[in-house]
Amino acid sequence: MDLSLSNPTAPTPDCADDGVWLACIDCEWTGAPFDEIRYRCPDCESLLEVRYDDHPTLAEFDADSGHGVWRYADALPVDSGVSIEEGATPLYEVPTIEEEVGVAELRVKHEGMNPTGSFKDRGMTVGVRVAERLGVDRLACASTGNTSAALACYGARAGTQVLVLLPAGKVAAGKVAQASLHGARILEVDGNFDDCLDVVADLADRGEAYLLNSLNPFRLEGQKTIGLEMLEGFRDQTGDLPDRIVLPVGNAGNTAALYKAFRELVAAGELAVDEVPTLTGVQAEGAAPMVEAVEEDRETVQRWADVETRATAIRIGNPVNAPKALPAIRETGGTAVAVSDDEITDAQRALARDGVGVEPASAASVAGLRKLRDAGVVGSDERVVCLTTGHLLKDPDAAAAAGADPEPVPADTAGVLDHLS
Ligand SMILES: *Cc1c(COP(=O)(O)O)cnc(C)c1O
Ligand SMILES: [Zn+2]
Repeated sequence: MDLSLSNPTAPTPDCADDGVWLACIDCEWTGAPFDEIRYRCPDCESLLEVRYDDHPTLAEFDADSGHGVWRYADALPVDSGVSIEEGATPLYEVPTIEEEVGVAELRVKHEGMNPTGSFKDRGMTVGVRVAERLGVDRLACASTGNTSAALACYGARAGTQVLVLLPAGKVAAGKVAQASLHGARILEVDGNFDDCLDVVADLADRGEAYLLNSLNPFRLEGQKTIGLEMLEGFRDQTGDLPDRIVLPVGNAGNTAALYKAFRELVAAGELAVDEVPTLTGVQAEGAAPMVEAVEEDRETVQRWADVETRATAIRIGNPVNAPKALPAIRETGGTAVAVSDDEITDAQRALARDGVGVEPASAASVAGLRKLRDAGVVGSDERVVCLTTGHLLKDPDAAAAAGADPEPVPADTAGVLDHLS
C-alpha cells in the first residue's frame, strides 16, 4: 500500500462489508471490518486503516442528513453512532492574532466546543458504536486526559464498562473529574502516557477490553470530519480553501486523520493534489519525537523515554500514528516545529484576548504558527487554519496560572472604590 495523495482507490476485496474494509498501511493485507477485533496487521504488525469502495464529494454531504460528525455518515464505516451531538464546531476569526502574525487569512477551528470539550468525541462516537457491533463488554484507553473523559462519557451513554489508565499526577483536573463523574474505573499508573498505552494495549491483546486509543482505526474515521468541516467552513467564510493547517501533535492521530480526509477528497475528485492543505505539526520542546523525525527526514520516530511539558495533553514520547502522520506531513509539503512551554502559554493568552479559551496543548498550534511565520517558513500570503483541540476549562490550573490573580478587597463599596483608584 502507499499513503501518497494520488493513491488510486484499490479494488474492493471480497472481505468488504457494505463497501467497508480494513487494510494494512504497509503490506497487502485486507480484512473484514466487524468480524474480528484487530488493532494491527496480522501479517506485519503495522497500522490498519479503514477503506471504502466509494468516496463522496463535499456537495454530497447533505445539510439535512444528520448533525455534526453524522452529517458525514457516507464517509464513515457505520451509518450512525453513539451520539451526543459531537462535531459542527465553530471556525472563529481571530483578528488580533491574524494581524499580529501577518497572514492573508487566519481561522481557529475550536474543537474545545465538542460535548466533552475536546475533539476526542468525534472519534468516540464512531469507535464506541463499532465496539457495540463487535459485541465487546468493556472499553479501555490510556490517556493524557481527554481521551479518558470522552470514552467515559460515550461508554456511559452506551451502557458499557470503561477502564482508563492515566499517568499519575500528569492529568489536568477537569479531565479526571469528567472520567470520574461519567463512571469510568480510573487506574493511576506510576509512569508516563506511553507506559499506560503499553499496558492497556497488552490488556486489549489478551481480550480484557476493547482498545479505544487512536491506534484504533475506527476512531480516526470520526476525527476525519474535522478536516471536512474545516474545508467547508473556510470556503463558506472566505471563498477559498486554506493553504495550511497547523495542529498540535501528540499521538499524531489528527495529523493522520486530516490527511486521510484529504486523500479521500482527492479520490472523490473534489480536490486536486495541489489543493490539499499543507499539514504542519506542532509539539512541545519537551516532547518532540515527531519534530525530530521530520527534521532528520526519517521514516519512523524514535521513542523519547522522558517527556515533560505544561501541555499535558501532548506529553507523549512515542506517537503511535507516526507511520501514518510522517507521510501526511511529507506528502502535503508540510513541516513540524517545537515550541517552548512559555511560547505555549503566551499563545494561550493571545487566543484568550481574541475570545477563544483553550487548554495549553491547543495553544501550541498558534505558538507554532507564530514561530514558523517569524522564520519565514509560513508566507504572508497564506490562508491558515489553526486547530485548537481542547477547552480552557479542561485545565483550570494552567488557565489560572496564565491569567491575572484575583485581587482581595473588603466587602463594602467604599473599600472596592478605594482599591480601584
Ligand atoms: C489528544 C489531544 C491532542 C493530541 O492529538 P493527537 O491526535 O494524538 O496528535 C492534542 N491536544 C489535545 C487537547 C488533546 O486532547
Ligand atoms: Zn501488514
